[in-house]
This record gives sequence, structure tokens and C-alpha cells, in this order.
Amino acid sequence: MAKVYVDQDACIGCEACADALPDVFAMEDGKAKVTNAEGASLEEIKETAETCPTEAIKVEE
Ligand code: SF4
Repeated sequence: MAKVYVDQDACIGCEACADALPDVFAMEDGKAKVTNAEGASLEEIKETAETCPTEAIKVEE
């Protein structure tokens, strides 16, 4: 299973990922966290990772 996480130092809290995939990402203390890596397809998660302005979303396969 792929490992999905948010680099807490890189995240600027723009909320784009949590808006796009609320079943995967949630905001906590101004940063995004992965709440459920299986809340969307890996393809959707990768697409969302590409929209992150700081490339904070990491996907390791
Ligand atoms: S899209 Fe990137 S910078 Fe924005 S909240 Fe998500 S992880 Fe943080």
C-alpha cells in the first residue's frame, strides 16, 4: 500500500488538498494531515499532490 503524508514544514495551510479530497486530508492547527490514505484512489491523491503549491504532499509507492 502506498504511503501518503504531508511534509509539515512545507505545508502552508492553503486547504486546497482538504477541499479537494476531504476524505483523505483534514486541516489541523493550520496544517494538512492525512486522515485516511484510502479515502480516494491513488490516482486522485497523486493529482491532488500535484496541485499543492509547495509540493508538501508525499506519495511513496
Ligand atoms: S495543498 Fe499543500 S500547502 Fe495546501 S494545505 Fe494541502 S499540503 Fe498544505
